[in-house]
Parts: sequence; structure tokens; C-alpha cells
Amino acid sequence: MSFLKDAIAVFKKKDVVFLDSQKESDDVYTFLFEKENELTWKAGQHGLFTIAHKKIKNSIRPFTVASAPSENVIQLTMRISDTPSEFKKAMLELKQGMTVKMSGPVGNFYLKENHPTLLIAGGIGITPFRAIIKQIEAEGNAAEKQIHLLYMDSEESFIFKDELDAIANNASIRVTYLNSRDALHQEIEQFTTSIKNDGYYYLAGPKPMVDSISTYLQNQRVPKRNIKKDAFFGY
Ligand SMILES: Cc1cc2nc3c(=O)[nH]c(=O)nc-3n(C[C@H](O)[C@H](O)[C@H](O)COP(=O)(O)OP(=O)(O)OC[C@H]3O[C@@H](n4cnc5c(N)ncnc54)[C@H](O)[C@@H]3O)c2cc1C
Repeated sequence: MSFLKDAIAVFKKKDVVFLDSQKESDDVYTFLFEKENELTWKAGQHGLFTIAHKKIKNSIRPFTVASAPSENVIQLTMRISDTPSEFKKAMLELKQGMTVKMSGPVGNFYLKENHPTLLIAGGIGITPFRAIIKQIEAEGNAAEKQIHLLYMDSEESFIFKDELDAIANNASIRVTYLNSRDALHQEIEQFTTSIKNDGYYYLAGPKPMVDSISTYLQNQRVPKRNIKKDAFFGY
């Protein structure tokens, strides 16, 4: 059913109007687009975005919508290196009022039930969790959800840190910043020991990292059905 919904959503392309951009860190940029009233998504889902202002090869990329629907803006946050792809060069050229095409939202990477949940972000994989946590803050139901975010970045370049800390203070969501796999494994072990089989695990980030954490969890006897993955290829 959700596959059918996704298939229909992918064919519905709409123009979204560029508003503004900002640099989050040395190699991470945020782009904001107007959200029309009828457009909505579930926090954590992604869209397919197509460059429209010029012809380029491979003009489509999937990106998480890093904002919550309650924020009334479409936020994309992406890593852009010193030698960007044609797609990302085109993103950096956007001026206010220009458009990109969006199809979707698609995907099932969103919270469904109130289980104790560990959100595990590797680097740029923080994008869906920013949306999810912002939405929980807006709905004011963090206490029911028992959310703990583990945000790992070996360079300790934690984008959104101020925002996440502010939400953590107000909305009883735990956020822990980590810079090594060992520290991450320790946190996971504490959670699995205290929650047993009732916990859910959401993993987002570069595909190799997501795959290796998923394998680690399964070796810790976490059932596969309790693990949800958003694997970003291209990193
Ligand atoms: C569901 C989802 C959500 C995402 N959300 C974000 C986000 O919020 N922020 C963000 O920065 N990135 C996100 N990504 C990754 C993003 O779509 C791009 O792949 C990434 O930014 C690299 O794009 P690029 O233009 O820099 O490099 P590219 O030129 O696209 O590619 C870099 C490398 O990846 C390889 N590659 C390209 N496409 C594929 C593919 N389909 N399968 C395997 N390898 C491939 C290429 O061969 C090349 O070696 C997401 C990906 C997915 C699937």
C-alpha cells in the first residue's frame, strides 16, 4: 500500500520556489524552499529533486526534507565538497524566486508507534532526525515517545547542535554527541540492555555506516524488523 502511494507521489512533480540558503559548516549547506499549503510530508521522508534552471546530466537526486511539516518551509541540507557534482553546482547557483522540481514525498522512514526509540545519525544522516525531532517538539508528545538521539561524527562537526540542544532541554528528548564507533557501540549496548526487544532503531547516514551499524545491531540480537534504515548513497 505504501509502495503504491510512493509510486503515485513520484509521478506528481511540482515546482518549489527557492527562498534562501545558508552555510552550516565547511561543507554543509541548507537550502530553503516555499511550502505550498497542499504539500505535506511525514517528518523523516524524502523527496526527489530535479534541477530546472539549466540542462545537466543526472539532474535528479533524492534528499530528505530536513524540516518538519509544522515549520511551513521545505528545507534541504546537503554536503557539498570543494569539487561539487553538476547537480550541486546548480544548487549553489539558485537565486531567490528560481524553482526546482520536487516529486514525493516518499519513503517509510518516519516514526510510527510509541516504542522506546534510538535514532542513530552518522554525519549528514542527521537530516531526517532534525525533521522528526522538530515535529515531536511541535506536537509536544516527547514524553510518550522515549526518544534518544545518538549523533556521531568523527570530525565532531555537529550541524544543528544549538537547535537540537534547545529541543532536548525543552522536550525531554535525549541527545548524545559521539565521535567514535566504540562510543556509539557502548551507547547502543546500554539501550539494548535496558529496553530488551521492545526498542526500535532508526539509522541514517552514508550507506557503509548504516549497513555496518545494522549488522552490529543484529549481532546484538536486535530483530531485523525493529531496525529502520535510511542509507544515503554517494558518500
Ligand atoms: C533517501 C535518501 C535521502 C538522502 N538525503 C540526503 C540529505 O539529506 N543530504 C545529503 O547531503 N544527501 C542525501 N542523500 C544523498 C544524495 O541523494 C546524493 O547521493 C549525495 O548528496 C551525493 O550527490 P552528489 O551529487 O554529490 O554526488 P554524485 O555525483 O551523485 O555521486 C557520488 C558517487 O555516488 C555514486 N552514486 C550515485 N548514485 C548512486 C546510486 N543510486 N547508487 C549507488 N551509488 C551511486 C556515484 O557513482 C559517485 O561515485 C540522500 C540519499 C537518499 C537515498
